[in-house]
Amino acid sequence: MDIEKLLRKNIRKLSGYAAKEIPCKVKLDANESPYSFPSLLEDIAEIETNRYPDPEASELKRAAARRWRVSHKNILLGNGSDEIIYYLITTFGGPVMYPTPTFSMYGIIAKALGEKTIEVSLDRDFDLSMDRMTGAIKKERPKLIFLSSPNNPTGNCFSSDRMLGLINQSKGLVVIDEAYHPFSSRKGMLPLMNDYDNVIFMRTLSKIGFAALRVGFLIAPEEVVEAVNRVRLPFNVNAISQRVATRALKNYREIEKTVRLICKERDRLYRELSRIGTVRVFPSEANFILFQVSDAPGVHKRLLGKGVLIRDMSAQIKDTLRVTVGTPEENDFFLEKLKEVL
Ligand SMILES: *Cc1c(COP(=O)(O)O)cnc(C)c1O
Repeated sequence: MDIEKLLRKNIRKLSGYAAKEIPCKVKLDANESPYSFPSLLEDIAEIETNRYPDPEASELKRAAARRWRVSHKNILLGNGSDEIIYYLITTFGGPVMYPTPTFSMYGIIAKALGEKTIEVSLDRDFDLSMDRMTGAIKKERPKLIFLSSPNNPTGNCFSSDRMLGLINQSKGLVVIDEAYHPFSSRKGMLPLMNDYDNVIFMRTLSKIGFAALRVGFLIAPEEVVEAVNRVRLPFNVNAISQRVATRALKNYREIEKTVRLICKERDRLYRELSRIGTVRVFPSEANFILFQVSDAPGVHKRLLGKGVLIRDMSAQIKDTLRVTVGTPEENDFFLEKLKEVL
């Protein structure tokens, strides 16, 4: 049987998210935190594994609502924010618009669901190009606009004025993906919820030490949460994740300490990279740094040969690599090997 022929047309040309497990000594490719929190796992032995989890994840939702000072009715949980992206596009459909380069899942999921995507390139400073975005909004009337701020992989926040401009122009929903907000010096746009009914937010625990749990949050007006809830699978966040994530949010101080360490290391890494003559570094408000070298694919490969895995971004931006901020030791090891390779 020819399985390819059996596939839906839009799936035939689709390639999934590129996430291979490559064995290496120092893993700095996936924007994970180098710190984990074993003490938060102490009570998972109590979980009755024979029972379904709480379908509403009420406790976790309440902890999240307290953390972001919203009602629990403004929160919907996902198996990672990836699942929330899936739900949003399933619920509202396309066209789905986003600036490029950005997080690849917006496009992958939209295409998997057979929705039209509108990709609008960022300007030279990696900020939103208002001319192009405005033009595309008028012409295509997107149902959803995804803005990752800080943006992955460029590391910068988009300017608030421009995001606000898009919110004002859009007849659809503007999704501000604040996956990297904990590492940013900016206030975040969450307060906009009070004044606009078409702006919604995503947050995640994945970049601050809990990628294994797969817990993401949609923070949105009640009507939006209610709509998305219609497509949500009943037990989409498992019991272990609910338990640990609740404890994590209640012990946020502990997490914040590691976030501060990571930011300090990011700034050091930025300075050290800037000192290497053949490297162009881009400023970052996230837990990773984008930089440019000549022959990024070659540098990527030779680094891997020395035990350091980072991310080759040259398909998105010519000759760029993205390195996740690790522990001080990991960052030193990376810097040492990079200098050797260059
Ligand atoms: C990593 C990342 C996510 C995915 O988060 P999960 O909660 O792990 O699914 C979402 N948005 C951006 C911009 C990311 O970089």
